[in-house]
Amino acid sequence: MCLCIQTIVNFNPLVSFTAENDAPIEVINIIEESLQDITYNTVIETDEIESVADVSQDISNESEEVPAEDHSVEEEDFDTSYHEYDGENSESIPDFENGQAEHTESESLEPIPEVEQGQSEHIESESLEPIPEVEQGQSEHIESESLEPIPEVEQGQSEHIESESLEPIPEVEHGQSEHLESESLTTHDAVEDSGYTHELYGHIRLPQSIRPTFYDIWVFPHMYGPDPELFSYDCETIIHINCIENTSVVILHSVDNHVIDWNITDKPQGSKQGRLYYNYDKEMIEFYVGFTMVAGHKYILTIRTNSSLSNSLRGLYYSPYNDGNVTKYILTTMMEPTDARRVFPCFDEPDFKAVFIFEIKRKPEVTSVANLPKRLTIGPDEDGYYTDIFDQPQTVPMSTYLVAFAIGELGFLESSVNNITFRTISRKSAINQTRYALDIGMKFMEFFEDYFQIPYSLPKEDMIAVPTMSFSGMEHWGLITYRESAMLYEEGVSSLDDKEWITIITAHEIAHQWFGNLVSPYWWDDLWLNEGFATYMMYLAVDRVFPEWNMINKLIVDFRGVQNVMNTDDHILSHPVYVSVNDPVEITQIFDLISYAKGGSVIRMMNFFLGEDTFRKGLTRFLKTYTFKTATHLDLWKSLSEQAVIDNHKNSDVMAVMNNWILEENFPVVMVTKKDDVTLELTQSAFLRNAEQRSMRSNITWKIPFVYTTNLDGNFDQTYEDIHWLEGKTMTVTDQNLKDSTWIIGNVQQYGFYRVNYDVALWEAILDQLMTNHTVIHPINRAQIINDAWNLARAGMLDFKIALRTFDYLDSETDFVPWSAAIREIKNLKSSLLMSSVYGAFENFMRTRIKKAYLDSAGSTNHYKRIQYTLIANEACKYGLEDCIKDATETFEAWMADSNLRINPDLKESIYCTGVKYGGYRAWHVVLQRYKISQSTSEKRFLMNALTCTDKPWIFNKLADIVMETDTFLKTDGAIIIINMFKSSIGRLLKLPFLDKHWSTVLETYREDINLLTNIVEAITRTVSSELELKMVLEFLVEKEKSATRTKLIEGIYKMQAETNNNQLDAVEKWLRVNYDLDVSPS
Ligand SMILES: [Zn+2]
Repeated sequence: MCLCIQTIVNFNPLVSFTAENDAPIEVINIIEESLQDITYNTVIETDEIESVADVSQDISNESEEVPAEDHSVEEEDFDTSYHEYDGENSESIPDFENGQAEHTESESLEPIPEVEQGQSEHIESESLEPIPEVEQGQSEHIESESLEPIPEVEQGQSEHIESESLEPIPEVEHGQSEHLESESLTTHDAVEDSGYTHELYGHIRLPQSIRPTFYDIWVFPHMYGPDPELFSYDCETIIHINCIENTSVVILHSVDNHVIDWNITDKPQGSKQGRLYYNYDKEMIEFYVGFTMVAGHKYILTIRTNSSLSNSLRGLYYSPYNDGNVTKYILTTMMEPTDARRVFPCFDEPDFKAVFIFEIKRKPEVTSVANLPKRLTIGPDEDGYYTDIFDQPQTVPMSTYLVAFAIGELGFLESSVNNITFRTISRKSAINQTRYALDIGMKFMEFFEDYFQIPYSLPKEDMIAVPTMSFSGMEHWGLITYRESAMLYEEGVSSLDDKEWITIITAHEIAHQWFGNLVSPYWWDDLWLNEGFATYMMYLAVDRVFPEWNMINKLIVDFRGVQNVMNTDDHILSHPVYVSVNDPVEITQIFDLISYAKGGSVIRMMNFFLGEDTFRKGLTRFLKTYTFKTATHLDLWKSLSEQAVIDNHKNSDVMAVMNNWILEENFPVVMVTKKDDVTLELTQSAFLRNAEQRSMRSNITWKIPFVYTTNLDGNFDQTYEDIHWLEGKTMTVTDQNLKDSTWIIGNVQQYGFYRVNYDVALWEAILDQLMTNHTVIHPINRAQIINDAWNLARAGMLDFKIALRTFDYLDSETDFVPWSAAIREIKNLKSSLLMSSVYGAFENFMRTRIKKAYLDSAGSTNHYKRIQYTLIANEACKYGLEDCIKDATETFEAWMADSNLRINPDLKESIYCTGVKYGGYRAWHVVLQRYKISQSTSEKRFLMNALTCTDKPWIFNKLADIVMETDTFLKTDGAIIIINMFKSSIGRLLKLPFLDKHWSTVLETYREDINLLTNIVEAITRTVSSELELKMVLEFLVEKEKSATRTKLIEGIYKMQAETNNNQLDAVEKWLRVNYDLDVSPS
């Protein structure tokens, strides 16, 4: 899923794990040998097809988890959201015009036999009407202009689906059956059944006695009436299973699916039906088949279900949007990690891979899409319905969490790359906004095919934008889903920041087609293999495809990057990258910054100590070894080490280096002391912000790849050849080149996931260098110096004065990366100082620091500079820089008078926010009204974010009422507004009244969506700064914690946070009084 949590969280004790999780690594890597051997006779002969279709199968969906996207920048958001200046109002993405845009054909992909793939040159973006060409009468038969010939499946040899298996249940008509033939029982560990007690299965993980090899899923949604509360769907799931050990029970996952009928077929004995038990606690169903299934034999289980539909953003759900005055719906899926079981009964663990086919029954006015290409459409039936069949290729085994399909009035754009049909899909009115995603999607597909040296596995890749989604993107194989804001790009409306966001997420999801889809984690404890790799690879891919964006530098300060996750991993309640998880709640909780950003950061470190060549070949080796299978991190170490040995690499024991980086929470700080002219002493310790917690981790050491440079060589491009491995607590380095040096800087380009502290003389030398000529230090290390100094000071390991002096040189700093690091610390400071009497002086100080950077980047046409300008302009207005406010408010007034006025999209965030802040209720009201009528996803996001820029408490409360009590905002947008409110300086003061009035509604609205609810809780908890607030928040949020120990720890974390803020406040107040004029002038 997509990573994109846009809400920045320092840490959230409520969703972190305890330290006891170090878990014995269960490395049972079961290799799925059987999958490759299976030949399913899924080829549906023409004359069989109707009956097959009638027998309905079900569909599975999947979804991606992506931590909530929003890179939207809130006033107090620590996120490094960029804003940039679109100097020339750019016309069209020059970067993407190359060649392939020529054949971006946006015809609609309806099945329509007349439309040959690949032949269309023109770009018309109408969305495909559902098969106007298929006339009644002729459609009895299936038009099988189908795709690939499936060489693997030989006709004749396949033991195809016998029709007895499908036959079943003539009495039960789809959708009409009310009765439950199998008795459903309640959720107890034991159930009474006609006098005897049945013990329900007691484990979280499925038994290994049965393995699925093939699913045929038929889905028939009832989604056409005006009232979505009545939406439901019928589903039939046919599962081919291999019996591994003799058993008489089939246990698989299912949640909220009403089983209408089922049977199991064993060829010699015919169709059977035994007893069924719902095991609610374990989210399973147990089918007692009434005979002994024999090891080595194959069986076919058919289950017919009916389930309701909701807008819960989980499983199969409806996503509403307005088309003119009409509310319409796209039905879409989000399965990851454990919601496939909500859509159809299945073996819902990543290691139970199987081949899937789908059949979707629909009305003619809608279109359906799924993981696989559509081979044919049958229909209409007597009721006017068509059935789309997606059944090839049948050679790609897939985990259930990757299953996906979608149904709605969809538009399409189509092109192709490397013989892969590539399409973007959205509601029809937005289809032209998918053109950019199509262009970059193909670029990244090409990039990864080349990088991994492994072709993409499916004949097509679709990317669909859906109006509501809990994550920004989800990598379903062949059908990637995105929240609209993460995929739709409008030239002249969307900002450069939006463009980067869409680009990064697209690269992330396409990277998953290899890391995650081709090779999946054996179990969710290795989720980081998916998310860490996709995160690192997205920066790498964007950097290679758009080198002028300098994305590889930005990953240091990005939300999903190194410095941000260090701030979430520096306390005792953090958790290791590899973490033991069992039930669905635990699994969902690790879709967090540790898995994504720390995972990505340690992979980047691995890339450094192995070097590019060995790293890349090692990854290819890993992916090829485990193609269509699952793997653990131990398998990855093995592949990389094998490659390192082949390459005669000096750092070949990958596991020895990486173990503690992924098995231990937290990370080290290296103290560098210059003992004499030529000797450095390096000492490591665990870095935790709190001294008491630090002492609890005093025995942990990491194997640290330490690399340094000095003022004499100034070499920030060192390689693995230059590494000094710090393995124990301490070591000395003797280097004659140190003799005449003044400063040294450790951890060049911050390749290692650790902080560096220095003795005072070395800090003084570094600060001097920043003041005299900062450009001799690499921009990443300038950012590192700021970030390390401030965090060391907050931890009591460095004098605050040194941290404060890292800001002194900023008035000559013009690079995005160090400025982003500085702004993060400045926002932290601002948060502490907000109520202090010296806050005005602090604003004055900031205005002087930011002015040069503001003027320097204005008007640039360079991408990197434009991003920089957006960042700086936003801050400059917030700190009251007169020029910035004047420009912004004038532009805003003109826009209020003329809604058609074109505003530079890179500055919209700043202009709208400043306009609302200084414009009172009138300005706020206009923004709200324009939000309501805007049809543009980008514009709506800008307007929505501006609503929380007001500084009037009563307007905040009015906004809260609108969000919680009306349907003005979509569910996802409502969550983002709440999060933004708590990040703003005024909104945080209204926290307790909000909780008092609306908390139960928040829980009710978002209970089903743990990702959004988690982000809301994080926004509420991150600004606790007083004992009273602490008490109140604990009452609201922590009382549900079952464990007294854990509650105590959480309380300790908050206290520590409050104390740190107070210490920081004292130090900064003193410093401001001594060094700066406290007589605050108006601006
Ligand atoms: Zn992901």
